[in-house]
Amino acid sequence: MPTLNFPNGLTREVTVVSVETLATPTRTISQPQRRPIVLRMWSYARAVAHWKAAGSPLRTQEQIEAALAICQTCEHYTAAKRPHCKICGCLLNSAPHGLANKIAMATEHCPLDPPKW
Ligand code: SF4
Repeated sequence: MPTLNFPNGLTREVTVVSVETLATPTRTISQPQRRPIVLRMWSYARAVAHWKAAGSPLRTQEQIEAALAICQTCEHYTAAKRPHCKICGCLLNSAPHGLANKIAMATEHCPLDPPKW
Protein backbone atom coordinates (compact mmCIF):
# COMPACT_ATOMS: atom_id res chain seq x y z
CA MET A 1 0.00 0.00 0.00
CA PRO A 2 1.60 3.34 -1.01
CA THR A 3 2.28 6.01 1.61
CA LEU A 4 1.60 9.72 1.17
CA ASN A 5 3.84 12.21 3.02
CA PHE A 6 2.16 15.54 3.79
CA PRO A 7 4.10 18.83 4.23
CA ASN A 8 3.11 18.98 7.91
CA GLY A 9 4.88 15.70 8.59
CA LEU A 10 1.87 13.42 8.60
CA THR A 11 1.99 10.22 6.63
CA ARG A 12 -0.97 8.20 5.49
CA GLU A 13 -1.27 4.90 3.75
CA VAL A 14 -3.62 5.12 0.81
CA THR A 15 -5.47 2.56 -1.23
CA VAL A 16 -5.00 2.81 -4.96
CA VAL A 17 -8.23 2.37 -6.88
CA SER A 18 -8.34 1.89 -10.61
CA VAL A 19 -10.52 4.03 -12.85
CA GLU A 20 -12.41 0.89 -13.88
CA THR A 21 -13.30 0.18 -10.25
CA LEU A 22 -14.64 3.70 -9.80
CA ALA A 23 -16.73 3.39 -12.94
CA THR A 24 -18.34 0.14 -11.77
CA PRO A 25 -21.63 0.70 -9.96
CA THR A 26 -21.52 -0.67 -6.42
CA ARG A 27 -25.27 -0.74 -5.98
CA THR A 28 -28.27 -1.06 -8.19
CA ILE A 29 -31.60 0.67 -7.84
CA SER A 30 -34.19 -2.02 -7.45
CA GLN A 31 -37.30 -1.98 -9.59
CA PRO A 32 -40.64 -2.25 -7.88
CA GLN A 33 -41.72 -5.86 -7.84
CA ARG A 34 -45.13 -7.34 -8.50
CA ARG A 35 -46.72 -8.03 -5.13
CA PRO A 36 -47.91 -11.56 -4.27
CA ILE A 37 -51.63 -12.20 -4.93
CA VAL A 38 -52.50 -12.22 -1.21
CA LEU A 39 -50.97 -8.78 -0.72
CA ARG A 40 -52.70 -7.45 -3.85
CA MET A 41 -56.07 -8.76 -2.61
CA TRP A 42 -55.42 -7.23 0.81
CA SER A 43 -54.40 -3.96 -0.83
CA TYR A 44 -57.60 -3.94 -2.93
CA ALA A 45 -59.83 -4.69 0.08
CA ARG A 46 -58.13 -1.91 2.05
CA ALA A 47 -58.46 0.53 -0.88
CA VAL A 48 -62.19 -0.23 -1.24
CA ALA A 49 -62.75 0.14 2.54
CA HIS A 50 -60.85 3.46 2.53
CA TRP A 51 -62.82 4.65 -0.51
CA LYS A 52 -66.19 3.63 1.03
CA ALA A 53 -65.30 5.28 4.35
CA ALA A 54 -64.55 8.51 2.48
CA GLY A 55 -68.04 8.45 0.90
CA SER A 56 -67.03 6.72 -2.38
CA PRO A 57 -65.71 9.86 -4.12
CA LEU A 58 -65.18 9.47 -7.87
CA ARG A 59 -62.81 11.18 -10.28
CA THR A 60 -64.30 12.97 -13.26
CA GLN A 61 -64.20 11.19 -16.60
CA GLU A 62 -61.59 13.72 -17.74
CA GLN A 63 -59.35 12.90 -14.74
CA ILE A 64 -59.84 9.16 -15.34
CA GLU A 65 -58.81 9.48 -18.99
CA ALA A 66 -55.73 11.54 -18.05
CA ALA A 67 -54.56 8.99 -15.44
CA LEU A 68 -55.29 6.07 -17.79
CA ALA A 69 -53.16 7.71 -20.49
CA ILE A 70 -50.27 7.82 -17.99
CA CYS A 71 -50.79 4.15 -17.09
CA GLN A 72 -50.90 3.09 -20.73
CA THR A 73 -47.37 4.41 -21.24
CA CYS A 74 -46.08 2.88 -17.98
CA GLU A 75 -43.83 -0.19 -17.97
CA HIS A 76 -45.99 -1.72 -15.20
CA TYR A 77 -49.22 -1.57 -17.21
CA THR A 78 -50.50 -4.67 -18.91
CA ALA A 79 -53.37 -4.71 -21.38
CA ALA A 80 -53.67 -8.50 -21.23
CA LYS A 81 -57.30 -9.69 -20.92
CA ARG A 82 -58.24 -7.28 -18.14
CA PRO A 83 -55.96 -4.21 -18.21
CA HIS A 84 -54.31 -3.79 -14.83
CA CYS A 85 -51.27 -2.53 -12.97
CA LYS A 86 -48.64 -5.23 -12.48
CA ILE A 87 -47.50 -3.62 -9.22
CA CYS A 88 -50.77 -3.38 -7.29
CA GLY A 89 -52.88 -5.69 -9.48
CA CYS A 90 -55.74 -3.18 -9.67
CA LEU A 91 -57.94 -2.87 -12.74
CA LEU A 92 -57.19 0.17 -14.88
CA ASN A 93 -59.71 1.32 -17.46
CA SER A 94 -62.00 4.22 -18.29
CA ALA A 95 -65.03 2.91 -16.38
CA PRO A 96 -66.58 5.59 -14.17
CA HIS A 97 -67.24 3.23 -11.22
CA GLY A 98 -64.63 2.67 -8.53
CA LEU A 99 -65.20 -1.05 -8.01
CA ALA A 100 -64.40 -1.74 -11.68
CA ASN A 101 -61.58 0.76 -12.00
CA LYS A 102 -59.02 1.88 -9.44
CA ILE A 103 -58.48 5.16 -11.28
CA ALA A 104 -62.12 6.13 -10.71
CA MET A 105 -61.63 5.99 -6.92
CA ALA A 106 -60.64 9.53 -5.97
CA THR A 107 -58.97 8.22 -2.80
CA GLU A 108 -56.52 6.01 -4.73
CA HIS A 109 -53.20 6.81 -6.40
CA CYS A 110 -50.50 5.10 -8.40
CA PRO A 111 -48.53 2.76 -6.05
CA LEU A 112 -45.11 4.03 -7.15
CA ASP A 113 -43.07 6.34 -4.96
CA PRO A 114 -43.44 9.04 -6.15
CA PRO A 115 -46.81 8.21 -7.73
CA LYS A 116 -47.26 8.89 -11.44
CA TRP A 117 -50.81 10.12 -10.83
S1 SF4 B 1 -50.87 2.65 -11.45
FE1 SF4 B 1 -48.80 3.56 -11.59
S2 SF4 B 1 -47.41 1.81 -11.65
FE2 SF4 B 1 -49.44 1.03 -12.12
S3 SF4 B 1 -49.55 1.06 -14.36
FE3 SF4 B 1 -50.42 2.99 -13.63
S4 SF4 B 1 -48.72 4.44 -13.65
FE4 SF4 B 1 -47.84 2.40 -13.75
